[in-house]
Amino acid sequence: MKEALSVLCLVLLVSVSEAAVTKPGIGEFLGCLRSWPSPESPITDDIFTADNTTTFLSSYLAYTKNTRFASPNYQTLMAIVTAKSLSHIQATVVCAKSNGVQIRIRSGGHDYEGLSYISSVPFVILDLFNLRSITVDVPSKQAWVEAGATLGELYTKISDASETVNKTLEQGGIDVLYKWQLVSSKLLDGLFLRALSQVVNRTIVVEFYAQFLGRADELVAIMNQSLPELGLKRQDCLEMSWLNTTLFWEDLPVGTPTSVLLDRPSKPEKFFKSKSDYVKKPIPKEGIKKLWEALLEFNNNNIVYMQWNPYGGVMDTVPAAATPFPHRKGNLFEVQYYTSWLDANATMGSLDMMKKLYEVAEPYVSSNPREAFLNYRDIDIGSNPSNETNVDEAEIYGSKYFVGNLKRLMEVKAKYDPENFFKNEQSIPPARVKQ
Ligand SMILES: Cc1cc2nc3c(=O)[nH]c(=O)nc-3n(C[C@H](O)[C@H](O)[C@H](O)COP(=O)(O)OP(=O)(O)OC[C@H]3O[C@@H](n4cnc5c(N)ncnc54)[C@H](O)[C@@H]3O)c2cc1C
Repeated sequence: MKEALSVLCLVLLVSVSEAAVTKPGIGEFLGCLRSWPSPESPITDDIFTADNTTTFLSSYLAYTKNTRFASPNYQTLMAIVTAKSLSHIQATVVCAKSNGVQIRIRSGGHDYEGLSYISSVPFVILDLFNLRSITVDVPSKQAWVEAGATLGELYTKISDASETVNKTLEQGGIDVLYKWQLVSSKLLDGLFLRALSQVVNRTIVVEFYAQFLGRADELVAIMNQSLPELGLKRQDCLEMSWLNTTLFWEDLPVGTPTSVLLDRPSKPEKFFKSKSDYVKKPIPKEGIKKLWEALLEFNNNNIVYMQWNPYGGVMDTVPAAATPFPHRKGNLFEVQYYTSWLDANATMGSLDMMKKLYEVAEPYVSSNPREAFLNYRDIDIGSNPSNETNVDEAEIYGSKYFVGNLKRLMEVKAKYDPENFFKNEQSIPPARVKQ
């Protein structure tokens, strides 16, 4: 009996360690890529095999935005293909699929949970940062933007093609924050007023940032009528071009040259974690207080804030089923809870604090489902393993991100990717997979 037991353990150990290190089909995958006809430029210049060299690492880190995922998993990552043409993309998809290799597609690498560049099964990163052309057509109000273009590049192109004037402001207070909930989704379409509760020197500071398409005097008049508690004055406003407002939202000092928008990243700068919520009824003042108290519980070294982004306006005019994005009429605002830190040892504590903050918010936010913003990807709201997509689990996170549109998205997925080749921990499953 003892002997049988040890044999069983040995067998299990071998199979576990093999699963961890074997990268099936890597030779075949690379061979397939290299032999793929590529009329524009040879794909061989754009393959970085995961060989632990500085060249490979800098390629991995260039579009890795979150330090939590800064160490490549050499057990599973096979290569990065930095495609320069459509034929490179075709080659990567076909060669990966035919050799049983998973693909993670990375455009800007901003995915909050790193799903565009991490996986626990053998995979390649199809990196699209080289595909970055932008064409802006002002008369038709349309732009064609390749996936690898940055927002800074897009803003610069739009600004080159058009002329606008904007302004900004900043102030704070708990009563104002309560009142903000009542008015912010009903302001003019050309006015966006964000409220930010932030921990500063062990207390909460609420800041209001607005962007208005018009002149400063006009904005002061509107604000003093809609939200007089804010006490906005002309000197709180800055008039600037629309392009400069994009720097303002990045917290760059006034006067920063707009050429910084064209800079590309080279490595991640911090560890961070975000979560999101949707609010349909104003949060009572006691609720705001509880949320603030939860923010104050974070470690002193963390940057912590709760950002309230108003909906209403144009967001209300698009039917919920018109695009995959479902959070339309009926939402007062969207919340982003955010924390960042610089010390790897603070990771577990920071993630725990975010979970606690999310629990505190539960009574005040949307429910059944508790809606979430896909751009603020949050792996805690439900996820599958890297290489399998359980439909019941997918319906949990999918209904939070897509609400009533999930069913149709699953049908589209079944039509165009019935084998579920393109997948990640929070992908949409093909409808037919359901038992
Ligand atoms: C510092 C920072 C600030 C942010 N600010 C905002 C903000 O103000 N407002 C906001 O809405 N969001 C914001 N985000 C979130 C951001 O919009 C999302 O993370 C968005 O998905 C980023 O796109 P990306 O191409 O950089 O992501 P990636 O990480 O490259 O990709 C995101 C997901 O899409 C998939 N994917 C990428 N390219 C393709 C493709 N071509 N085809 C198919 N699938 C693809 C990836 O595999 C991954 O699953 C911010 C993120 C960061 C890191």
